[in-house]
Formats: sequence, C-alpha cells, structure tokens
Amino acid sequence: MLKEEDKIFKNLYNQFGWDINASLKRGDWSNTKDLISKGKDWIINEIKLSELRGRGGAGFPTGVKWSFAPKKVGSRPHYLVINADESEPGTCKDRDILRFEPQKLIEGCLISAFAVSAHVCYIYIRGEYINEGQRLQKAIDEAYEKKLIGKNACNSGWDLDIYIHYGAGAYICGEETALLESLEGNKGQPRLKPPFPALVGLYGCPTIVNNVETVSVIPTILRKGGKWFASMGRPKNTGTKIFCISGNVNNPCNVEEEMGVPLKYLIEKHAGGVVGGWKNLQAVIPGGSSMPLLPKDVCETIKMDFDSLVAAKSGLGTAGIVVINKDQDIIKCMARIARFYKHESCGQCTPCREGSGWMWRILERIAKGEATKDDIKLLSEVTKQIEGHTICAFGEGSAWPVQGLLRHFSKEIDKRCFSEPTIKKKRKIPYLVDQHLLESKDA
Ligand code: SF4
Repeated sequence: MLKEEDKIFKNLYNQFGWDINASLKRGDWSNTKDLISKGKDWIINEIKLSELRGRGGAGFPTGVKWSFAPKKVGSRPHYLVINADESEPGTCKDRDILRFEPQKLIEGCLISAFAVSAHVCYIYIRGEYINEGQRLQKAIDEAYEKKLIGKNACNSGWDLDIYIHYGAGAYICGEETALLESLEGNKGQPRLKPPFPALVGLYGCPTIVNNVETVSVIPTILRKGGKWFASMGRPKNTGTKIFCISGNVNNPCNVEEEMGVPLKYLIEKHAGGVVGGWKNLQAVIPGGSSMPLLPKDVCETIKMDFDSLVAAKSGLGTAGIVVINKDQDIIKCMARIARFYKHESCGQCTPCREGSGWMWRILERIAKGEATKDDIKLLSEVTKQIEGHTICAFGEGSAWPVQGLLRHFSKEIDKRCFSEPTIKKKRKIPYLVDQHLLESKDA
C-alpha cells in the first residue's frame, strides 16, 4: 500500500548499512542546517501541519506538545528527553530504529531540541537493549566526529549534547514522568499531573519527552513537507507507521506502512498469514499488550489507525500486533498478560497495586476451571475499579485487556466457570493454599 518512495525508514532490515556514511548516502543530514535556519516557529508549524501524533502509544499531537514548552528560556534550561524504554510486550519497532537507522534519531534530536530550545538531550534506553545502546553510542560518536552534533551542530549555530541513560528494567519507566524520576536517580514512579513535564519536567525544568519513532520521522517530514506527511492516511491519523507483527503468524516482522492500512492486509501480505490460515484466527491484540484484543470478525475489516481502533473499543497504542490463533487458550494468554501487569505495577495506587493481582488470580482460576460464576462479575468490577482511578495510564493498560476478553469471549469464560458447590468438588487443594503457592512462585 505504501509506495517505496514514501517510506521514511529505508534501512529497516539493514540491507544498506547502519553507519554514518551509509546514512549520509540515504539522505540523512542532507540539509539540516537549512531546516534549522527556517526557525522554531516554522518547524513547529510544519509538524502541526503534518498532524504527526506521538508514536509511543498515547498518540498526542507532537507539534502541539512542542508548543507547550515556554517560548523563551528563563532561569531554567530546557531539556529534550527521548523515550527509548520500549517495553510494551509485542513491540520492537524502536529497537530496529536504534540498530539500523540511528542517524535518523540523532538528526531528529537536533531539530527537535532546537524547536524546544534545548541544548541537552537524554536518550533513556531500555536496560535490556545493551547491544542497541552500544550501537547508538557509536552512531552518536560518529555524529560528533563529523560535527553534526556538539558545538555549533551542523554549522547551524545551535549547540547540542546527547547522552544515553540505561534503564534498569522496569516497564513503568516507559511512562514519561516515571522515566524522568528514574533519570533523576529516583525510584521510577509516575508523578501526578499537572504540572506537565513541558513546564516542570527533568530537574524541575521544562522538558519535552518524545518517543524514538516520533523524533526519527521529524527530519523527513520537514524535508518533504508537513503536507506530504498529512497526505497519507486520513485526517488526524496521518503519515506512515512501523507495525510490529508477532504471535501466530508465519513471518513475524516489523514493517513500515501507511496509517490506516487494513489489519488483514498487514497480516496476510507482510507477516505471511496466520499459522493454520485465516480461518484459524482467534483474536488479535492490535497495539501492544495493554490494548483490548479484537475478535476475528472485527479483524476482517478494521483499519490500523488511532481513531478506527478507538471506535472498535481498542487502541493503536504502540502498533504492536500480536496474532492469537485457535491453537491458543485465550484465557491463559490473558492471564499471562495480567500477571505481567501485576508484576510491573509500581504500587503507588491501591486500585492498580491490588487490582492487578486480583485480575491475575481470577483469570488463573478461570483458566484452570476453578472459578465460580460470581468470579466473572467480580473480575468485571475490579477492572472498573481500576480504570480512571489511578495516577497514570498503567491502570487502564492493565484493566483494558481484561475488559476486551470479557467483552468478546464471554461465552468461553462462561463455559469454564461453575457454581460454588461444583467448584468445591473440583478443587483438589484448598483455594487459599493454592493462591499462596501461586504468589510465592511469582515472587
Ligand atoms: Fe503506579 Fe499503577 Fe498507580 Fe501507575 S497506576 S502510578 S503504575 S500504581
């Protein structure tokens, strides 16, 4: 669907080399100085015109976010922070940018930093991405050597230093304020908003936090024009996007496609189809594990963009597509995801800390056929007690997948739940002992 000439990431599969000379040949850094010389307002307006929405999961308009940074630098410096803490299960797009297109990110950092008046940029990278971090450091060193960043970067008159910071493995540090806390050396726990980071961010200074993919597409948008980017996809869902397709497909892959591409086309054309054929499809998680799954009939026609997926009561999230075929036990799959969220909750909010564990334990009971009919109602109530009652969106991220399961697989759940007397007979070990063992295994 996406024309070859409209692809932004030409080296997504590393066919042409990742080093700076190969990147320069592909056109990176070709007229960065000219772009910067057009001024901050022009850059921000062009990004607004492109209707680029953040590629980290929330989908907030990037140009609007930048315009929240104070116009003039006061007594506190401005910072640009790149969120490379890619930890959403099913998502590995930023990883390939870091490995194979690092100069796109670095050039994007310079232009974005200039637009928000920052002279220092931190790239907060997922701790497990040790090889990717080393690759990125080499790319940063190469950019310094060629004077593309540093003092008077690219002869633009703007100074920019870029530092890499490794995370320590907590999923929640992908949430922007937890990331800032972690960067400051504190425990990675989200902050209450407002104030928003654009005004009070890193070290209490104005800070713009952007995802790797978002920043990496900035130079190409400015070169080709905001209108070019906005001409792809549909209004408010524009441009191109890297989709990560994994799970029960014949050819798991990352692929750049036009926003709004049909999900079925992505799976059939790029990922080699569902294992066992399309008829064997059970459900798809469309945007990383925190987004509600879609049943097969919705997958037939759904388009992959922010608004289409919201209309289907799901979300584009990180565009991490996880295909689940009929060979899988859907309840076990969702119990596994619930366990992940229970483990990763930072524990500040009671509904999230306690509720994520409740959801996991109930789902385990359902999967084992040890749940009562009342458990179904309880599970639904717990998700609602979490949703909208927490400091950060992690609460929704843990509750939504369970709500998706309840919405689309109620018959399957109902089949596995029994009346209380039947359950008592079924249980081989007392319920409380069983839970205790599960808890200690998880610890
Ligand atoms: Fe922490 Fe969960 Fe509250 Fe977010 S919602 S701050 S992860 S306890």
